[in-house]
Amino acid sequence: MNILNSGRFSVGSVVAGMLKKLIGEFALMAQKAYVMESMAYLTVGMLNQPELPDCSVEAAMVKVFSSESAWQCVSEVLQILGGLGYMKDYPYEHLLRDARILFIFQGTNEILRMFIALMGLQHAGHILTTRIHELNCWLEDSGLFGPNRGPGADGQPWSGPPQPRGECQQTRGERVLLWPHRGESAASVWKKTVVEEQLVLKRVANVLINLYGRVAVLSRASRSIRIGLRNHDHEILLANMFCTEAYVQNLFSLSQLDKYAPENLDEQIKKVSREILEKRTYICAHPLERAS
Ligand SMILES: Cc1cc2nc3c(=O)[nH]c(=O)nc-3n(C[C@H](O)[C@H](O)[C@H](O)COP(=O)(O)OP(=O)(O)OC[C@H]3O[C@@H](n4cnc5c(N)ncnc54)[C@H](O)[C@@H]3O)c2cc1C
Repeated sequence: MNILNSGRFSVGSVVAGMLKKLIGEFALMAQKAYVMESMAYLTVGMLNQPELPDCSVEAAMVKVFSSESAWQCVSEVLQILGGLGYMKDYPYEHLLRDARILFIFQGTNEILRMFIALMGLQHAGHILTTRIHELNCWLEDSGLFGPNRGPGADGQPWSGPPQPRGECQQTRGERVLLWPHRGESAASVWKKTVVEEQLVLKRVANVLINLYGRVAVLSRASRSIRIGLRNHDHEILLANMFCTEAYVQNLFSLSQLDKYAPENLDEQIKKVSREILEKRTYICAHPLERAS
């Protein structure tokens, strides 16, 4: 596991080095290089602690973020060069191919996202169990929520079906956690079946990766200001750009975690996949085709 961890976090520093060679004046690449470097430095700093903490989730987050950023940046460079970038005479098509393997080895990004999300939810689950119990006791005492009521009643976002009495205690806890604490709702609503919910897990992982990236750049930029490092204003710009983007992305991902939100297209995605799998082909007719 430690060998894999060191391989994964090193994707951050290696790719940041590769991007720095390509940077020129491109803000996207500078920002991505800064974030992945910061995540890798933060992770290696923790790994170097004498008590050898388990940093497998952090290492996985560095790997996923860095590999996908590398692909995006190299692809952008190739695009800027136009047709020349596609030719074997130049190194960019080779770099693009090399960047693509980063999604696959050292654990594929799909599997790592599930790992990140499930480890995160497992941790949240320990905290939530106590919280749900406390909430249920409080709700029981307050009398605010009858068996068929929840935060969705009276015009609130939740409007789930009435629950049988036997389940009401658990359901009230779940409803409270579904709104407004959306980040916690995946753990509380799906419980053990969350492991089957890959679309949900992907979003949870994306939120966690963005949060870790934000922690990493904010720590690094704050330190650079504190000790007066050269060009720290530039670092602040990069950190600010990333934090703003990550914040907006996370708001969207969190809103999609709510099964009943209009942003959540999971049921439609599953239906389309089922229909294609049934026929084993793309099933839309050509527009010139006639029904009869
Ligand atoms: C150039 C190169 C170098 C390599 N070097 C090493 C090495 O040094 N050491 C080593 O151990 N391995 C190495 N590998 C192997 C690499 O680790 C595997 O290719 C990788 O783990 C993916 O496994 P697979 O190819 O069997 O794909 P599969 O496991 O068949 O996966 C195929 C696709 O399905 C997805 N997938 C699979 N299961 C799920 C699931 N449950 N949910 C969602 N998606 C899923 C995967 O993410 C992937 O996109 C290397 C591979 C390459 C190409």
